[in-house]
Amino acid sequence: MRKPTCPVCQWPGCNQPGTHRAPKGRMAEGEYWQYCIDHVRAYNQSYNYFAGMSDSAVYAYQKDALTGHRPTWRMGTREEGGAKATDGRSDPFGFGAEMGGHASGFQPREETRPIRTAERQALEMLGLEMSATPAEIKARFKELVKKHHPDVNGGDTSAEERLRNVIQAHSTLKKAGFC
Ligand SMILES: [Zn+2]
Repeated sequence: MRKPTCPVCQWPGCNQPGTHRAPKGRMAEGEYWQYCIDHVRAYNQSYNYFAGMSDSAVYAYQKDALTGHRPTWRMGTREEGGAKATDGRSDPFGFGAEMGGHASGFQPREETRPIRTAERQALEMLGLEMSATPAEIKARFKELVKKHHPDVNGGDTSAEERLRNVIQAHSTLKKAGFC
């Protein structure tokens, strides 16, 4: 007859009675894990591996074993994902700064985005949607050149600035094959 105080196997996720003792090892003389028969065998097989590890390290290893020791996260991937999200609002060509905006510095990694930041900002500069057609871009460019031309703005320097931005935006889009 089993004593009612028999502890549950201490192997993570196991509910079998912990009928077998396994020495925790060098760092914990006289201390034991309580395992079921299957897990005391598993433990003994990997005893050398665990020797000298702290309890929490052993427990973490066993928990990993439940999922086949596959890495549950990758620092690199997570970091990269976060960086990408922020970079989406970056300003590789200093457009924002030029327009009195909010440049966050040069980000060469943006080069590989499907619609790069510079092109997105160029479209925004022209007041166009991301889906603007070449014809729409050309038409808007002509319209804005007329609107901001210094000749029709009495030599207004802010108009000149806007015209420069329009021309730069158009040339960015042209280089990228948008129009
Ligand atoms: Zn067990």
